[in-house]
Amino acid sequence: MAAGRNLSFDVYHHARENPDLLALSVAGTELTYGDLAGLARRLAGVVRPVAHTGRVGILASRSLAACAGILGTAWSGGTYVPLNLKLPEERLVMLLETLALDALVVDARGAAMITERVRAVLPSTVVLADDARLALDLDGIVVQRLGSLPEGGPAQPAAVDADHLAYIEFTSGTTGVPKGVMVPVGAVNHYMDVMQAWFGFRPDDRAAETCDITFDLSVHNMFLTWQAGASLHVMTPLQMVAPARFIRDRQITTWLSVPSIIAMMRQNRTLEAGSLPSLRISMFCGEPLPVGAARAWAEAAPDSRVENIYGPTEATIACLRQPVVEPVAVTPKREIVAIGAAYPGMRAAILDGEGRQLPAGTPGEIALSGAQLATGYFGQPDLTAARFPVIDGVRWYLTGDLGMTDADGLFHHLGRIDNQVKVLGNRVELEEVEMYLRAASGSDHVAAVAWPATQGSATGIVGFAVGAAGTPDAIRAALRERLPAYMVPGAVHLLDDLPLNANGKVDRKALFDRLERGLVPEAEGRAA
Ligand code: AMP
Repeated sequence: MAAGRNLSFDVYHHARENPDLLALSVAGTELTYGDLAGLARRLAGVVRPVAHTGRVGILASRSLAACAGILGTAWSGGTYVPLNLKLPEERLVMLLETLALDALVVDARGAAMITERVRAVLPSTVVLADDARLALDLDGIVVQRLGSLPEGGPAQPAAVDADHLAYIEFTSGTTGVPKGVMVPVGAVNHYMDVMQAWFGFRPDDRAAETCDITFDLSVHNMFLTWQAGASLHVMTPLQMVAPARFIRDRQITTWLSVPSIIAMMRQNRTLEAGSLPSLRISMFCGEPLPVGAARAWAEAAPDSRVENIYGPTEATIACLRQPVVEPVAVTPKREIVAIGAAYPGMRAAILDGEGRQLPAGTPGEIALSGAQLATGYFGQPDLTAARFPVIDGVRWYLTGDLGMTDADGLFHHLGRIDNQVKVLGNRVELEEVEMYLRAASGSDHVAAVAWPATQGSATGIVGFAVGAAGTPDAIRAALRERLPAYMVPGAVHLLDDLPLNANGKVDRKALFDRLERGLVPEAEGRAA
């Protein structure tokens, strides 16, 4: 098997060459490469001796514990698993039970999630941030504080093969079981090599960490920055509300986020022309990029290249790209930027239902193949085989995205074939919401619709139920106990019946239209 490059190798390397360079600024703390490598090494020293499955959970985000936990896990030769800080207790317990972790790294926000039930399924080793306060004792568990980890640990990051799992990212699954996308080191190495060759990140770059570690865009932000010997500036959720100021104050030079941020900034009028002069590279990923938003960003950051990059977690961050240059390549009738062409080492194709390639201009499913494909879904071999089929000897990932190529060979994103939606940048399967809605409402006749939504991105979910046992408020309260906040409908409407389409299935489009036309009583079931 080919050798992989351990994700912590660059931090180790720069710590030897330039230990005093700034590597990380997070929550008011600044760490040099020397500091960060020392922390990762000590953490690896705690994790490696207990390694069994090699999996380390990271119940942390946008914190020193999150970054150190990820680097230390990689250094030890392990696989890191981000756990969403918005998970309700039941879902966290379910994940901890399935994952059989060797250790868990927890920051202050993660510590608040450790209840009696969670404690019962914790791994035998827990590393706690210094400011993390626990409400209960962790008797019988080895607890270490991040700031006082024992000296020592492996002197170098562990050697790993290219197929060694770097991380497992969990996302919504249609059957109610979250899907754990297993991403090998070789796929991340490939992504980083392509991006570095294309953009040329430099030691004087200052990158923003715009997302939680449960989004794989965070992998790009962390590891391309550290590969270049540059500094990463982690934004708090509050700073994400006013990113222009953060970009100016920190003199940020490289940026990658979901496009929704642009919409938000335009709405609160903080994206003025020429207001982001420090940026030299700006990328958007995760949702369709509206042309107007792309142009507004380009005007705000006149010295920046702007690119739309496309890809699912299953193909490691992104694998198609389209520079935003005039005349902008626009997807017909959708006013969004084309998703462009595949990265070197990756292939994209438009397939019909039988796996046959479709000609230019004919819509079909976007399929991806090449060096960045994930290994599959954790513990779900059948789903893996279905979504990663081998066609004529080539392994593909079927994205569920509807797309087409144009006469110039550029790819365009036309929406979804299934009912996966993006809600404020989070990937959600509406079937999963409906599954829980059925249980919470005691009704089999339910529907979930992404609304309000424009150009492929939604800001909320609305639920519908026929003959429900409880009130909308009670249903929403029950859902809050089982689903992360972004998956809980902002309103639940109780109807006498659900509209059906020609196939006799619930017509979500008709429900969406009713919401658009204000035909569903606004006040009913809306959150206070
Ligand atoms: P995730 O796995 O969270 O990155 O979500 C992947 C999905 O996000 C893709 O299958 C697309 O539906 C959507 N997506 C990602 N990037 C883009 C983009 N640049 N344009 C349109 N949709 C995108």
